This record gives sequence, C-alpha cells and structure tokens, in this order.
Amino acid sequence: METYKFKLYQHKKNKHLHRSINAAGNIYNHCIALHKRYYSMFGKHLNKNRLMKHIAKLRRKNEYWQLVGSQAVQDIAQRIDRAYQLFFKHHKKGVRPPNFRKRIKYKSFTLKQAGYKFLDNNQLKIGNKIYRYWKSREIQGKVKTVTIKRNPLGELFIFVVTDHVDYQITSMTGKSAGFDFGLKTFLTCSDGNDIDSPLFLKQSLKRLKLASRDFSRKQKRSNSREKARKNLVRVHEKVTNRRSDWFWKLAHQLTDGYDYLYFETLNLKGMQRLWGRKIGDLAFSEFLKILEFVAQKKGKIVSYIDRWYPSSKTCSSCDYVLDELSLAERYWACPSCSCKHGRDTNAAVNILRVGASTLRVGDVSQLSAAISA
Ligand SMILES: [Zn+2]
Repeated sequence: METYKFKLYQHKKNKHLHRSINAAGNIYNHCIALHKRYYSMFGKHLNKNRLMKHIAKLRRKNEYWQLVGSQAVQDIAQRIDRAYQLFFKHHKKGVRPPNFRKRIKYKSFTLKQAGYKFLDNNQLKIGNKIYRYWKSREIQGKVKTVTIKRNPLGELFIFVVTDHVDYQITSMTGKSAGFDFGLKTFLTCSDGNDIDSPLFLKQSLKRLKLASRDFSRKQKRSNSREKARKNLVRVHEKVTNRRSDWFWKLAHQLTDGYDYLYFETLNLKGMQRLWGRKIGDLAFSEFLKILEFVAQKKGKIVSYIDRWYPSSKTCSSCDYVLDELSLAERYWACPSCSCKHGRDTNAAVNILRVGASTLRVGDVSQLSAAISA
C-alpha cells in the first residue's frame, strides 16, 4: 500500500468540498447521537448495518446530506463502529467512546470504490465536479481510497491510497550496526559513523516557541489571535515537513549502508524523565516508523533489543557490568579489562551485539527471501 498526498488548487469550486466535509461532520454527529440514544433505550450497541440502512433512508430526504456520497456515508458509520469496538475491548485501559465533534474539528471524508474518477491533466472528478490538484508524482497501482482532507488553514488536500508495493532493489552490504538515540548526536552508530542532530531542528524549535507564545498572548476571539493561530499552524507545518524530509533522507542513507539495523525499544516516558524536557520534539518514534517503512521496501531488517538490557553500563569488550553510570559521565574505563569507552558508542556496540545474537529466525528468512527475489 502506498499513500500519495496532493494539494488541491485554490478555486471557488472548492467550497463544494468544504460543504461536503461539513455535511460529513453533520452525519457523523447524527450517527453518534443515534448510537447514544439507542444505547440509553435498549442498553445495547447499535448494529452497524442497521445504522447504515437508517442513515441511507434519512439521506434520501436530506439534500444537505446528499453532498456526501453514499460511499463516504458508509465509511463514517464503519469508522464509528470501529471506534466503539475499540472502546468495548479496551475501555479498562482508558480508551474513550467516540463522541460529538465540532464542525471545525471535522476534517475529511473518504471515498472507496466509487464517487470519484481520476482524469488526465491532474484533474479529479468528485461527484459531478472536476477539481485540479498539484500532481507532484505519478500515482502507481490500483486506487483503493480517496480522502479529501482540510487542514487547520482551510486548505484542501487529497490522500490517495493504492495497492502498489514498490520493492526497491538495493544491494546487500553484509554490514550490521547498532544505534543509540541521543539529543545532540541524533544517532550514535556502533561503527563510529555518528549522525548529528541538524541545527535546523533546534532553530525551528525556537521559532515554534515564539509563535506559540505569540498566539497565547492574544486576546481570545480577536482577529489578531486568528492571525497568530494561522502563523503557528504554518510554522508547525514547516517544522514537521523539514524534519520529516530529513528523516526520509537519513532512513535511505542508513538502509543503503547496512542490512541489519538494531535499536533499543524506546521508552519515551523514561527518556522524558531523564532529560526533563519534551523529547517528543526529536520524534524518535516518527523516525523509526519511516526507517521501518524504507527498510521493508529494500529488504533490510530493523530490529529491537529489550530496553531493560543495560547497554550503557555493560563493557562491550568483556561484558563486565558497572553498578552505576550517571548520565553526566560521557566516558568510562572498564575496571575489569581497563578498556576505555565513550558512553554512547559503547551502548551502540552493545545494541549491535545483543541484537545480532537475538535476531529471530523469521527475520532472517524474510531478509534472504528479499535478497533472492
Ligand atoms: Zn571490560
């Protein structure tokens, strides 16, 4: 599966899509109300098919609702049902049931097999209207779904999901490496090829901070507050785009260089405690998602070692384990074999050693299948 994101050209016609999104939100809220009412009357979950039938009937008499294609209406009912199932299964873990959403918070509608058609010259027909989008790349594979999405700036995007699987032929290098995440050095690599955190990450954080402070200082419901909100959204978007750009490039660089890549399972809460600030800013987990995606395409393996393994405190040459190693200590000498260690590099080497020794057989066969394919 592959997802494409395209921006729609600004056009007066787009107001129809905005209205469709609003109407979809209206249907969504109506479905939620029906669910709630049904439950309070019968003490039971409203069946998905009954709900769809009922909504379809109402829709026949409701012109506003007809702005949303029947496919998209089904999608709404299915989505709510999935959210309820999740709630029934995991409510003890704090999962909340789906609830009403304000119009401004309602952002999209999704079309499956019908209700749209891709035409030549970056044109897309939705319902009986034709919209133009900024076609940044060719769509490959069979289209599974088309989602129209509105961002907080009121701009419209289409998300196209296809069944295309793109296996990239990359030569195997025979190399493996362990990696340790950090703040200043984004990744310390077991073979010494460390990846520094780019300066722009730090700079953009500063800019974000300024923009959000500016926003919070403005008077509620004022024009200047709306302006500041838009600015904040823009800065946010820019930061996210730039960072994700960098992540994609890095993911390609690493998967070109190594066949097996080992990491520690992330313990974000623990890291936050240790470093006493929001490390979500550095988005390690976002990077790992991208890396796994790229690795899979290239037939490379990303594997994780247990986070309870003391990767920093264990001597990578003799396995001696220190009782304690404070965060401030960047270098240490092993009391057993007197080997000198840089803290992070030693950890990365250990991650590689443990990872390579515990790699599951299934992972290896996946790799060799990819090599022979
Ligand atoms: Zn040692």
